[in-house]
Amino acid sequence: MADELTIVHVLPDLLGTYGDRGNVLALTHRAEARGVACRVVEVGLDERVPRTADLYVLGGGEDSAQLLAARTLLADDLVAAVLGAHTTLAVCAGLQLLAHGFEDSTGTRHQGLGLLDVECGRLEERAVGEVVTEPVDLPEVPSLTGYENHRGSARLHGSARPLGRVVAGVGNGHDDLEGVQQGHVIATYLHGPVLVRNPALADLLLSRAAGPLPEYEDPEVEELRKERLDVADPRRRRRHLLGY
Ligand code: GLN
Repeated sequence: MADELTIVHVLPDLLGTYGDRGNVLALTHRAEARGVACRVVEVGLDERVPRTADLYVLGGGEDSAQLLAARTLLADDLVAAVLGAHTTLAVCAGLQLLAHGFEDSTGTRHQGLGLLDVECGRLEERAVGEVVTEPVDLPEVPSLTGYENHRGSARLHGSARPLGRVVAGVGNGHDDLEGVQQGHVIATYLHGPVLVRNPALADLLLSRAAGPLPEYEDPEVEELRKERLDVADPRRRRRHLLGY
C-alpha cells in the first residue's frame, strides 16, 4: 500500500453538481483512515491537467458548463491519454465527456474525448430519482445506490462494459445498464455522491490506485446506504419506460 496518494479533481468549478465534490472527500477520508496521506490537486479552467497523479475524478455538470469543460479538455491533446492511463472516476457529465460524443439540449452532437467506447444521446425525458444497480463483475462491491438527474443516455460498444444492471431507475437508457467500465476508468450517472453512498466503490478505486487496503467500516455510512436502498422504487424504471 502506498503511503501517499495524489488525487486530481478535474475542473471542479464546472463539474460539481449535486455535491459531486463529495467523491473526492470520500476518497481522502477513506484513504486517510488507513494512514494514506492525500494531496488533492484541483484543476482550474486555465490550468493543465497534471500528467502523473494516482487518481483522477470528474463530476457532473449543467449542459453549458459541460460544453465549456469539453472545449477546455479537448484543447489539451494529452488529457485522454493521461486519464486512460490512470484510475479515473467520471460522473454524469464526466461520463459523457469521456465518450466519443454527447448531445446538448438542442440535439446537437458534440465531440467528447473518445476515451470510452460509448456514444451518448438523449433520453426521451429527463431521468430524475433514486437508482439501485447490481455491479457487473465486481464481486467486492455490493448493490450500488445513487441519485440520477440527466437527459443524456449512453450506448456501450466494443470494449466498454457496464458498471451495473439497473434494479431501480434509468441509468444509461439502453439495455437496463448503468455506467461504464473500461480499462482504468469507472464512469456512472450516479450522484449521491456515489462514493459516499458506496464506500466499496471508493475502496475499489483506492486499491487500484494505492494497492490493497485494510478493512474500514463506517457505521453511519452503512445506515445511510440501507436507508437509500430501501427508498428506491423498482417500479420507477418501468414507469419511466412506459412514459407515465
Ligand atoms: N448535462 C448532462 C445531462 O443532462 C449531465 C447532467 C449531470 O451531470 N447531472 O445529461
